[in-house]
Amino acid sequence: MSNDAVRSLPSVDRLAAAVGDGPHVLVVEAARAEVEETRAAVLHGEPVPEFEVLVSRTLGRVERTLRPSLKRVINATGVILQTNLGRAPLSERAVAAMAEVAAGYSNLEYDVAPGERGSRHEHVRELIRRTTGAEDGLVVNNNAAALLMVLQVLARGREVIVSRGQAVEIGGGFRIPDVLVQSGARLVEVGTTNRTYARDYAAASGPETAAILRVHSSNFQVVGFTTEPTAAELVLVARERGVLLFDDLGSGCLVDTTRFGMTHEPTVQESIGAGVDLVMFSGDKLLGGPQCGIIAGRGPLVAELRRHPLARALRVDRMTIAALNATLGSYAAGTALDELPVWKMARAPEATVRRRARRWARACGGEVVQSLSMMGGGSLPGQGVTTWCCRMTGDAEQVAARLRQNVPPVIARIERGAVLLDPRTVEPKDDRLVEAAISAAVVEFHS
Ligand SMILES: *Cc1c(COP(=O)(O)O)cnc(C)c1O
Repeated sequence: MSNDAVRSLPSVDRLAAAVGDGPHVLVVEAARAEVEETRAAVLHGEPVPEFEVLVSRTLGRVERTLRPSLKRVINATGVILQTNLGRAPLSERAVAAMAEVAAGYSNLEYDVAPGERGSRHEHVRELIRRTTGAEDGLVVNNNAAALLMVLQVLARGREVIVSRGQAVEIGGGFRIPDVLVQSGARLVEVGTTNRTYARDYAAASGPETAAILRVHSSNFQVVGFTTEPTAAELVLVARERGVLLFDDLGSGCLVDTTRFGMTHEPTVQESIGAGVDLVMFSGDKLLGGPQCGIIAGRGPLVAELRRHPLARALRVDRMTIAALNATLGSYAAGTALDELPVWKMARAPEATVRRRARRWARACGGEVVQSLSMMGGGSLPGQGVTTWCCRMTGDAEQVAARLRQNVPPVIARIERGAVLLDPRTVEPKDDRLVEAAISAAVVEFHS
């Protein structure tokens, strides 16, 4: 019975030898795992597989180990800044800049003309100043790091005043009150969930107060009977009380979104212009650049941050600097709306999107329906852009799973029991791939 069957299984060495090519350690490890798993199955009464089957399964294990885990997917969800899919796609200019410095050496911390040591911060300082209107700027790993750093360096051991309506969770368990605890600053909450007034901040500030922190409500809306003071009103309170004012904008928009029919997203320039001391924002949300956190504001404060050991611990690499440099360069040159994928997608004309959706629908026997694309990524909450999608027929979960099996995987969204594919978040050059994937998914579904 099964004991004889188990004895007929090949040894690890024999299986590994039959696999042949491949890094020896990995092949032996895979062969061992394969033999162990098969032995367990056989003891459970499963038949002994052919030797060739074991060899091919072992090869499969080796290949899976060596295959890169991070791979490209096609985002047909209609959410432009999808955190799970990597947020902002980069401009061609940014990608080229990264590639140029990635493979070789660069002047990252080297001042070429005098042949002296330089600072990596210099590469983006001037562009941050120019695009935001701030006196100075600093880049760290992401906006969460920026917030933590600002609080720790400038408010540790002292009080920071936050509106109850803004002591929120931003996503992925990132909660403002927790960040404050981590930074060593003490949270003082003021106002109520729906209404907080400038006078609430004034009343709460005392000798222990280091700063007022304003947090942009990125991923939710409080609608109806609500009040939050403007940045300008808070500047007055902060000045009068002699405390600092920090603004966590989250998305860090540099353009006026009302110009293309969207609701107004607060811009960095508005905060700086109002007199906020430090503004923090993400590089890979509406800015349309690489993952990073940008701190912009008053010269002496930014200089203090730059000198702090945390600036070293949270510093960005040369690829990020290259991509950010190129992205901010697009804003400085006035070409951001035409060069950055985030803005190209958001502004793609309805007629173009509809035409593409129609072609996709033809490829899979689906239909074209009107829907909304979302900005996502903690910007313009509840705000959609009118779009046209291809709605596929068939069991939604099954069809979506088939699309995910495509190479590259096509990620769709499911709405009211049907798979919807939004061309707005797909590069037009990928249309062929999408059409092939969706027609295959339908064929497989019917078979
Ligand atoms: C997204 C967001 C953050 C976190 O930014 P990351 O760059 O993802 O670290 C912090 N604050 C607000 C208000 C946000 O919207």
